[in-house]
Amino acid sequence: MQPLIDHARGFGHRSAEQSKELVRLAEGQSPQVLFITCSDSRVVPALIAGARPGELFELRTAGNIVPPYASEHPTSEAATIEYAVEVLGVSDIVVCGHSHCGAVGALVRGDDLDAVPAVRDWLTHATPRPSGAAEDPEVAEGVQAHVLTQLLRLRSYPFIERKLKERQLSLHAWYYEVHKGAVRAHSAETDAFEAL
Ligand SMILES: [Zn+2]
Repeated sequence: MQPLIDHARGFGHRSAEQSKELVRLAEGQSPQVLFITCSDSRVVPALIAGARPGELFELRTAGNIVPPYASEHPTSEAATIEYAVEVLGVSDIVVCGHSHCGAVGALVRGDDLDAVPAVRDWLTHATPRPSGAAEDPEVAEGVQAHVLTQLLRLRSYPFIERKLKERQLSLHAWYYEVHKGAVRAHSAETDAFEAL
């Protein structure tokens, strides 16, 4: 923890130009992208995308799961997505899964999660359950199928469906390889995840 505290203490001591950039952020945010990914510490969206403060609106969940939209019992995730689309007017949503994902790996292997009931119950939102080679440490097949499932889930959100029809929104499926620092994106033409 101490290195984080030490860094945070010095974070505000910046050059005049950097300070100007930060002051501008007080005027508001207008990110163009909602970036949905796993909570995994090895995935750092701003590093991957080279984004500056104000450029990426992020939603991080265990296993980058997008839960079902339910207007009577809204989830934090649905609220974040709704705000990004309806208020901030993002033009793109990226769902980024990653290799070696613990959550998706547990689903693929069918791990017993009774010791972590909140995790177990959260993962029930991953329907259909991802499958793939259980012995693959990257869980590549499972994660990639799982990311595409989350795009379908996003399409079930009424305001996303509307924006897609109006061609005001684009959805992207990414797969990040944590051991290579490489991103693959799903191609509609080949129905495969290909190097960016
Ligand atoms: Zn993960």
